This record gives sequence, structure tokens and C-alpha cells, in this order.
Amino acid sequence: MDYYKELEIEKDASESDIKKAYRRLSLEWHPDRNPHRLEEATEKFKRISESYQVLSDPEKREKYDMFGHAEEGQMPGGQQMDPNDIFKMFFGGGGFPGGFSGMGGGIPGMGSLFTGGGMHRQKVSAKLDVLEFPIETFYTGAKKKVTTRIQELCGGCNGMGGMNMKSCANCQGNGFIQQMRMIGPGMVQRIQSNCDRCQGKGKIPEKNCHECQGNKVKMVSRSFTIEIEAGMKDGDRIVFQGGGNAMDPSFENGDMIFHLKEKKSDKYERKGDDLYYMQNILLGDSLVGYWIELDHFGEKIQYYEEGIIQPNSMRRIRKKGMPVRGENGHFGDLYIVYKVKYPNQVLKTEQKEEIREIFPCLQGERDQKPISIKNSDLISPQ
Ligand SMILES: [Zn+2]
Ligand SMILES: [Zn+2]
Repeated sequence: MDYYKELEIEKDASESDIKKAYRRLSLEWHPDRNPHRLEEATEKFKRISESYQVLSDPEKREKYDMFGHAEEGQMPGGQQMDPNDIFKMFFGGGGFPGGFSGMGGGIPGMGSLFTGGGMHRQKVSAKLDVLEFPIETFYTGAKKKVTTRIQELCGGCNGMGGMNMKSCANCQGNGFIQQMRMIGPGMVQRIQSNCDRCQGKGKIPEKNCHECQGNKVKMVSRSFTIEIEAGMKDGDRIVFQGGGNAMDPSFENGDMIFHLKEKKSDKYERKGDDLYYMQNILLGDSLVGYWIELDHFGEKIQYYEEGIIQPNSMRRIRKKGMPVRGENGHFGDLYIVYKVKYPNQVLKTEQKEEIREIFPCLQGERDQKPISIKNSDLISPQ
């Protein structure tokens, strides 16, 4: 491990360069801000902390420059500190700089790593993306990498919107504004509202950050690996807690939610875990027997329908439906629905006679009776 590389600085970096690099990287890689890549972030955060601990101490830095370190993770001269303690020391125990003023000690919102929870931060509302997949994807399950645009805290100002925080003139640094209002003779109501210039923080930056123009955030592309489990359904959601938009360091990052949509299939209709397959059959085939052959998610299903196939009748095939999510080896059923297509042509007289011989008919042409309504009122069958 190269401490300089870890902090992305040159060998001759000044003390303030090191500080800046640590500030930027530790905020960027803080595990609480990277729930979508927690393992990677925790590891990276540890390495950044270790690098900072060595390079920020002139004595340790000198030793490191001369000797390097014997083993991975073995720091020159001295004990290794907890990355969280380094982070706390750096930011003065008050959390992200300036962001948590008036919220007491500890690092609010850093519950999972720092204070054991208890602090409640407001959370940014979730970002929701709809992802559409064909039914095959829901049948087999799949891992997909998806990229979406996320609002992230600006690294240039750590989400503060600018440099050199100064007391807000609008609210005299209180974060709120009090107003008196007459509500009747001799009756005064005192109204207190959040200062909108500093958003209730009491501090505003002297100079806007040039990277985000004071917006505190910027849009970035972020990739997520989503796992569609076999048997998932239209409307199911995959949630990355805190993986969504950031707004302000005093707010908890919103969730990133992927809403799964099943593309309409021209082959199947899905009802729960059961599948319905529409099989078109010609009238002739429905009378003399028919080979059913279908490619069912890569599997060939073949069987013979011997008897008469009634229109809209169904053949049920056990366990060839959708996989039941979370129940390994369990499947719904597959229904083959027969759609009998009747011919359009009118039969010749001899053909009609033949049919009458095969199939019993209630009426023949000879039995035709005069009709009681006008021909023009007869609308063709639909
Ligand atoms: Zn900025
Ligand atoms: Zn203010």
C-alpha cells in the first residue's frame, strides 16, 4: 500500500494538501454514504485513514519516506488508530463540518458506525426508477448492472455549498426568525419559522463553491447491480437503503428504489405463479388431433391432443409455470389455452352434405324457413 497513492497526492505534498485530500476522500468513501458498495467503501475508508494518520504526522511520515513499511497494514512507529476515531478527530466530533450545529455531540446519522444510533436525521425522499424486463428474465432470474443519475454531495465543498462559513445575517445565526403578530386587541402571537436563507442552520458560506455554484450537490452517474430473483413479479421492488439522492449533509441520503416491470409477452399471460399460453389451432386440427410443440424458456414441450379440442379449453401441465420466489424447486402450472380458428370460406353444397353425414346437424338447408325480419337489419356476425 502506498500512502501517497491512497490519498491521491504527490510525494512532496504539503500538510494542507494532505488534510484536503483526507477531507475529500474520507467524506467520499465514508461507509455510511456508500451503502450500495459498503464493503469496498469500508476497506477504502480504512486505507485512507491509515494513510492520513501516517502522513499527517511529520515523524511518522519521515520514517515512512525512508523505510516504507514492512508489511501490508503495518504502520511505521506507532499504534494504528480506529479509522472512525481519526474521522472524529479530524472533523472535531461534530460530524460533517458545520452541518450539524446545534444537534449535540457525536456524529448524528453515523449511527451504524459511530454512535450506535439514536439520532434521527431527516431523510431525502427516495429516487424511483422503473426497469422493464421480459418474462424470461423473471423466469430465470438475473443479475443486471444498471446505471442511473444520482444527486451526490459536492466533493468540492463537502456539501456545504461554499467556503468559510459565517453567521447568517438574516437570522443572526439563530437559524430561525421570530415575528410578532397582532391577533386581536392587546393580543400578540409570536411566530417562529426556519430561516430560509440558511435553511435553519444559522450559517452560510462566505463564498459559493465554484464546483456546485452553491448548490451543495451535483449529478453523477452511479451503477447498481440488481439481482432479479427467479419468480419475482411485476411491481416488485429492489431497494438500496441510502443509495439514492443526497441533498444536504444534515439529511440522510434517500433510498434508491428499482421498480420492476414485466414487459407484456405476446406468448404468455401470467397470473401469479401460473402461466397461460395461447395456442392457435385451426378448426380442422381441432377435429382430427394436433401435435402441440412449444419452446418453453428453452425447454421443448411436445404432446399430442388426440380428441376434439374445444374452443377455449385448457390443458394444464403441472410445474411448468413460473418459479415460486424463494422456494427452490417449486413452480406454478402452465395452461395451454386452445384458440380454435374457424375458416372464412363458405362451403360448397357437396361439402356441406359430407359434413352433415359426419356430424349430426339439427337443421339442413331443406329445413330453411322464411325469416321474419328485413335482410338489411341483419348485421354480419363478429
Ligand atoms: Zn460544492
Ligand atoms: Zn439564517
